Amino acid sequence: MIIGALEAGGTKMVCAIGNEKGEILKRISIPTKTPETTMPEMIAFFKNEKVERLGIGCFGPIAPDKTAENYGCITSTPKIAWQNFNIVKAFGEALSCPVGFDTDVNAAALGEATFGITQGLDCSIYITVGTGIGVGVYLNGSLLHGMMHTEAGHIMIKRHREDTFAGNCPFHGDCFEGLAAGPAIEKRWGRKGAELSCEEKVWEMEAFYIAQACVNFCMTYSPQKIVLGGGVLKQDMLLPMIRSKFEELMAGYIQTKELADITNYIVPASLSDNQAILGCIKLALNA
Ligand code: ADP
Ligand code: ZN
Repeated sequence: MIIGALEAGGTKMVCAIGNEKGEILKRISIPTKTPETTMPEMIAFFKNEKVERLGIGCFGPIAPDKTAENYGCITSTPKIAWQNFNIVKAFGEALSCPVGFDTDVNAAALGEATFGITQGLDCSIYITVGTGIGVGVYLNGSLLHGMMHTEAGHIMIKRHREDTFAGNCPFHGDCFEGLAAGPAIEKRWGRKGAELSCEEKVWEMEAFYIAQACVNFCMTYSPQKIVLGGGVLKQDMLLPMIRSKFEELMAGYIQTKELADITNYIVPASLSDNQAILGCIKLALNA
């Protein structure tokens, strides 16, 4: 089957062609402008490839509830041109094929659960720490939705005692994303994360925040693995620091075989930054 996959991001749209085996056969990237200019380019690509299904992992928040009136819309995004745009309807009409739809981070969680490091597990968590923080919860074999999807980048966490930065979430100030996403690091320390590799304090604080989130998700969902991705995790020393903070914060409260093997419990994304696009292939197959 010829499967179309779209990782729809705020800056670029990655359009790919793949198959059931999780092979990516072709990929293009189109800058995200307005629906009027960007949609026709993407539609032309998928039409030309004669896709039989499409899966979309989209920046959000989105409306993934099939029974809701606005199903298929990108809802309250700060990207004004895309606010309330029904991307599912637009592709469905243009391509006359089934369309699967979820958030970009849910797609990444699904990609890892289908083709990557969390295959075969009932419950796993995918956390991306980049321009924002997103969390995908894969629970009892499917993605958690409820009324929409998790927005667990915005959980409230305890501040580091030496952190005087107010936090930069426009809604909550010092929520997890407001304290720990890439732009928060840059604002707090005055330089981009990539230029702060040698500053131990930066990563000690960052690890403290990410570890707290891991503790919260571990306690809440009882996942068998937590996967960490996103630009900020490109700092290689961060992962071991997160694991050790996590163990310190857990304080031995829960004892399982998974937690006894921490390096295989909190793990880096395993699909070479293809986790979301591969998840889109699975979304298409499920559509
Ligand atoms: P996005 O979240 O926009 O999809 P990324 O996951 O690449 O994209 O995240 C971008 C963020 O990650 C930026 O805030 C950037 O400063 C930060 N970042 C990228 N590379 C690094 C690095 N090597 N170390 C620390 N932070 C980084
Ligand atoms: Zn917030």
